[in-house]
Amino acid sequence: MMDDLKTSAENTWCPGCGNFGILNAVKKAVRILEEKGISRDIMAISAGIGCHAKIFDYLALSGLYSIHGRAAATIQGMKIAHPGLKVIAFAGDGDAYGEGIAHLIFAAKRNADITVVVHNNGVYGLTTGQFTPTSKKGFKGPSTPRGSVEEPLNPLTLMLEAGATFVARGYPGKITHLASLIVKAIKHKGFSFIDVLQPCVTFNNTYDLYNEQVEILEEIPETYEAAILEARKKESLPIGVFYEILKPIYHEELYGDWNPVIQKFSREKRLQAVKDLLSE
Ligand code: SF4
Repeated sequence: MMDDLKTSAENTWCPGCGNFGILNAVKKAVRILEEKGISRDIMAISAGIGCHAKIFDYLALSGLYSIHGRAAATIQGMKIAHPGLKVIAFAGDGDAYGEGIAHLIFAAKRNADITVVVHNNGVYGLTTGQFTPTSKKGFKGPSTPRGSVEEPLNPLTLMLEAGATFVARGYPGKITHLASLIVKAIKHKGFSFIDVLQPCVTFNNTYDLYNEQVEILEEIPETYEAAILEARKKESLPIGVFYEILKPIYHEELYGDWNPVIQKFSREKRLQAVKDLLSE
């Protein structure tokens, strides 16, 4: 079958990188969504900076390349400007949980109707292996030659506490499962978040650990508290949807059903509004 989501960009990820599984899962999800009547023409993507961000080059979808840590902010702008779009941000762990953590937390807090997929490999791969907010304590790299002395962040409990209305974790070693999570996240009305356990074969090869510890959550935990407990598990790594609720969403609270792209005001109308304001 011809891959009509493939671009002409040369793929420069290391052979075996977990990013390949994420890319394949996203393509699968786009095709499933199209079967459900959600066209790729209304999907818009963004990415930060890092190995993860190359997914922007490898996916034939519209979008805007962002800067480090700002993909969630970028797609919030897209959504407010054109609420008819399904907007998806790809981010790295250093990107989303380091540089861009404030954008991520506030997007969850205000329940922006966006999807954020974090390629969490516990390392800055593009810059050759520095520790990130999710690196394990003791992680050795160029910036922590004697081992990191910090405990890692838990992205799931962080997002649950921040107010995210859809929280999930996936693994590119289980592509069909990850694709189904991406479908659910994009269909969710409100802030949807997926932390993806992405092995970096070159600087933090976690395939053996994940293949041993990953287990599929059969059901969504019944309560918020149960979701937190599940997310805190250390003896295994559950993947699946941890939490999903519906709450008012940001752009509707802000604008009602106004679509600033379709129903934009003329220049004359805007100038008149400024004159009216100044004359008050
Ligand atoms: Fe993937 Fe790591 Fe290579 Fe980057 S450095 S492409 S994250 S394996």
